[in-house]
Amino acid sequence: MTPEPRPGILDIAPYVPGESELEGDAPVIKLSSNETPIGPSAAALEAFRKEVAHERYPDGSARELREAIASAYGLNPANIVCGAGSDELLSLLAQAYLGPGDEAVYTEHGFLVYRIVIQANGATPVVASERDRRADVDAILAKVTGGTKIVFLANPNNPTGTYLPYDELQRLRKALPENVLLVIDAAYAEYVRRNDYEAGIELVATTDNTVMTRTFSKIHGLAALRLGWCYAPGPIADVLNRIRGPFNISAPAIAAGVAALRDTAHAAKAADHNERWLAWLTDEITALGLDVTPSVANFVLIHFPDEDGRRAGDVDEALKADRIILRRVTGYGFPNALRLSVGTEEENRTVVSALKAFMEKGGAAA
Ligand SMILES: *Cc1c(COP(=O)(O)O)cnc(C)c1O
Repeated sequence: MTPEPRPGILDIAPYVPGESELEGDAPVIKLSSNETPIGPSAAALEAFRKEVAHERYPDGSARELREAIASAYGLNPANIVCGAGSDELLSLLAQAYLGPGDEAVYTEHGFLVYRIVIQANGATPVVASERDRRADVDAILAKVTGGTKIVFLANPNNPTGTYLPYDELQRLRKALPENVLLVIDAAYAEYVRRNDYEAGIELVATTDNTVMTRTFSKIHGLAALRLGWCYAPGPIADVLNRIRGPFNISAPAIAAGVAALRDTAHAAKAADHNERWLAWLTDEITALGLDVTPSVANFVLIHFPDEDGRRAGDVDEALKADRIILRRVTGYGFPNALRLSVGTEEENRTVVSALKAFMEKGGAAA
């Protein structure tokens, strides 16, 4: 007899990662998972390699890494908790604050990991509608009930690339009941170049009920390492430290994270590259007559015409025939869009040429 998991677990639709492989040996342009085209800092890789020989347990408190993060951002290391990717921290937050009968809110096109961690803990996911593919504070507030325990908000959001300015975030926090934990997932914060954006540090520092999560997977190019962190009020950091695995971060990951943070020139290069090519991709793809959601992150969401042969699935097939992989986003409520991560100059030019050829030919049906 198969043991029964807790109620709710078999209702979870497993997360579908961006595709990474196609049949055959010819090289593939993979722009499906928002990784940086610049790759990680050489110093981070070097630090990683050195620590691979480390045969003892790592420092379970990841003190060196927390101190490096604290000094990079001007924070107190005691308020930082590291995780195996920010996904682990999202899971731990849900595990600590959600249970059967509780509700947690996320937005219509919000990151799907939230739904998974909510259901994994037997709580009820509640979806707030968005406006113009952007989180809507009033819609979120309208979904809050006496049972709400967490609001998860990706800012900027994946896969839309849109963001809430700081005044809207403050308005949300002020209007939420004090017992509701606001989790701000700022995985793409380093890419945002907007004066009205604040990643969440201010809100965490000035409230008792807000947590910001961050990751080394995106701008630092260390997705394979699984490394993230959160900045949390003392009592919440204490809760996370009680339930996390005692050695949840490996010694090579600690070393690589410290080196990546110190290599500020590398991160600046990645952000500069992104600024230039995000604008270029947005302009070029818009010029093809396609609707591109304005993004502040390292990817764009492209919407296709609702016509036979030109829908997202058709474009996806045509691009794959050219060995280019984008991300289907049907699960995010966009059956007719594809998400494209900013790539190298060559990759960006190749993908725009392929899209152009597709559009000029009148789609796959022509
Ligand atoms: C990529 C991404 C993350 C990062 O997850 P890791 O587990 O740190 O790799 C978190 N949130 C969002 C919205 C993302 O797109």
